[in-house]
Amino acid sequence: MIEMVDVWKSYPNGTDALKEINIKIEKSEFVYVVGPSGAGKSTFIKLMYREERPSKGQIFLDGKNVEKLKEKQIPKLRRSIGVVFQDYKLLPTLNVYENVAFAMEVVEAPKKVIRSRVMEVLDLVKLNHKMRAYPDELSGGEQQRVAIARALVNDPITIIADEPTGNLDPETSWEIMKIFEEINCRGTTVVMATHNREIVNTMRKRVIAIEAGRIARDQQRGEYGYEI
Ligand code: ADP
Ligand code: ADP
Repeated sequence: MIEMVDVWKSYPNGTDALKEINIKIEKSEFVYVVGPSGAGKSTFIKLMYREERPSKGQIFLDGKNVEKLKEKQIPKLRRSIGVVFQDYKLLPTLNVYENVAFAMEVVEAPKKVIRSRVMEVLDLVKLNHKMRAYPDELSGGEQQRVAIARALVNDPITIIADEPTGNLDPETSWEIMKIFEEINCRGTTVVMATHNREIVNTMRKRVIAIEAGRIARDQQRGEYGYEI
């Protein structure tokens, strides 16, 4: 569960990126975050994985007030959230297997556990056969599948994705969306910022629209609602 209570975010340069955000996302929901460029979508997403902190208001993740967590509780919070970016952010010097395993090594999982879990998530994204390839040997869609495997490997409660199909062609975007749908069917909450009108209008999930820093719309089985 993700909850924001009267959340405001101003950046140090004075930009008011988010204003008066009140939202609740239940476990296992699939939510699209839409809105014009500069509306505040990335800021909204960054607050969820604690990349940015609110200027005012409270954020709860699974009932815990994120701002009140002690330093040593932060790694556990980070593990409960997997993040996927538009530009994949894979480590270029590590192969597919190592990129995914790295996320488990930093949380000091035993080697045997790492091996079986990495193979499991690579199987889910259908990339076992490329486990020894390096990122620059993969297509964009394949790189994003590695990034999704990495986000999933620690079995998070929530997957957060910021424009995950932004650099992909329509067909590859659909393959990526099918993977997110599968992940959601297995019980993981998915929150995704996107400009992909066709996908939002076809999938008909909950849509939260942000405009000029405020929630302009929050619809079940919603639509994209913009021309571009
Ligand atoms: P979106 O993801 O919808 O394009 P953002 O959340 O990236 O919107 O940006 C919302 C507003 O905050 C914009 O006016 C943007 O220029 C501003 N902004 C984003 N990040 C920063 C930052 N680090 N410092 C100052 N202003 C920022
Ligand atoms: P896309 O059409 O999705 O952009 P690419 O043309 O980049 O895909 O790649 C097609 C296939 O060729 C993919 O399976 C990819 O892994 C493989 N491939 C692409 N570049 C290389 C490379 N430099 N070395 C080895 N395999 C590659």
